[in-house]
Amino acid sequence: MRAVGLHPDVVVVTSRFWQTTATLVRSGEESFLVDSPVLPDELEIVPAVAEQAGFRVVGLFATHADWDHLLGRYAFPEAPLGVAESTALRLRDEPGRAQHAMREFDEEHYVERPGPLGLPGPQPLPVPGRVSIGEAELELHPAEGHTADGMAVWIPWARVLVCGDYLSPVEIPMLSPGGSASAYLATLARLEPLVEQAAHVVPGHGGVLDATRAAAILREDRAYLEGLPGAKLPLARRTSAQKRIHAENVAALG
Ligand SMILES: [Zn+2]
Repeated sequence: MRAVGLHPDVVVVTSRFWQTTATLVRSGEESFLVDSPVLPDELEIVPAVAEQAGFRVVGLFATHADWDHLLGRYAFPEAPLGVAESTALRLRDEPGRAQHAMREFDEEHYVERPGPLGLPGPQPLPVPGRVSIGEAELELHPAEGHTADGMAVWIPWARVLVCGDYLSPVEIPMLSPGGSASAYLATLARLEPLVEQAAHVVPGHGGVLDATRAAAILREDRAYLEGLPGAKLPLARRTSAQKRIHAENVAALG
């Protein structure tokens, strides 16, 4: 796991698996962890990373309801989990889905965890809207299209955009069940002005981006989605794994 400071109040850790990112954000005495690393040893060490940086974690956010972003409770078992209303609905309507998907992953990769994933009563947040943290506010923006749910978090004083599974340098746009190309394109349009103002963009998977690189990926992703089903894959993301995702996207178009 890698940990990188983007700002005195923002630290990003990147998982060894899928390069899943988790972002610590602080204002005053309060900090939140947005999303989570994937592997048990990484989750175990996140509290020490936070403490060393002087971040007192009082709550967890998840950008969307896919299991690999929901594991913060393993690091901070007492912290409440805040999610978009759309994500709270998905968690309610698909009970046990995240746990089941995590178990499948763990069985496939021989991963052992200290216990089952508990997700009691996630707290719905106002999206679009603001949520207070310490002496400041975070902006929450709807981010749907990859799945049926989701939010992006804008940290105004650090000019950092934590966007969930969009703008990834390692993954093409993925249309999961419940997602759609039109909703995905609408999210890209919503994120575009934030990307332009950003010092850093933290995608759900892959390394942290500067505004120029994030804008370039946004343009590639838009062209890809507009070109479906016959779209060419972005040059830097033309691996066999991405070709599989592309085939699934085309199948999802029906
Ligand atoms: Zn993901």
